[in-house]
Amino acid sequence: MDKLTLNKELVPAIQSIVFNREYLYLVGPVDLPCDVNSQVRMFRWYSWIKTPEHIDQKDAQIKYLLDRRMENSQVSSVLTFGSLTENNIFVRLHSICHTGDIFGSQKCDCGNQLRASMERIVEHGSGILFYLANHEGRGIGLMNKALTYLLQQSGYDTVEANEILGLPVDCRSYDEALCILKHLRREGTITFLTNNPSKIEAARRYGFEEVRYEPLWVNESVHNHKYLMTKIEKTRHMLNREVSR
Ligand SMILES: [Zn+2]
Repeated sequence: MDKLTLNKELVPAIQSIVFNREYLYLVGPVDLPCDVNSQVRMFRWYSWIKTPEHIDQKDAQIKYLLDRRMENSQVSSVLTFGSLTENNIFVRLHSICHTGDIFGSQKCDCGNQLRASMERIVEHGSGILFYLANHEGRGIGLMNKALTYLLQQSGYDTVEANEILGLPVDCRSYDEALCILKHLRREGTITFLTNNPSKIEAARRYGFEEVRYEPLWVNESVHNHKYLMTKIEKTRHMLNREVSR
């Protein structure tokens, strides 16, 4: 591809956002027609990476991204829907779950929460869904999650399994996503779709003032009853099904 075409197509779609002492390169949006409840809805998809490198020139930024060869890494996504200048938009900070999101595992509620949050955003008319790639197993990664699942099969709950293996119970940071959120949505009320108070607290710490939440309890079943109870009893998830005001 010649340089002129590269510049015309790609340069406007790469944004460099200051994040602490590093930079987030946000690439997009790409129109993404998604199946939501058997109807095609048009989302706008971005992905991003974090880098310590500050690059001024746009064509050098493109070369840097091409040279990074991220195929062995996971890269986070953000999907937006509708107008982001609406007074109150819905936001979901979704932690990747290989087993729940891809295979539909009912051991957890992640896959159902992912689909439900897209449905809620579409119903509401505007919102942002973050898909956070380094959050597998609440931050321990897929292989360690497999080890904890083996212990869970022997009867340990999700918190005990991590503790036995010397793994943190939850080491997720939402700051990168919140930085992108601030970039996409500078002011106005945000309603987080979540049962997890840590996400709301993280948003307030990050400087978001008008923050609400709507609970997102979905597929409660015999397969995930213990998992959901552990969330409520040990990791402060809110059983309350009311919407905050
Ligand atoms: Zn899950």
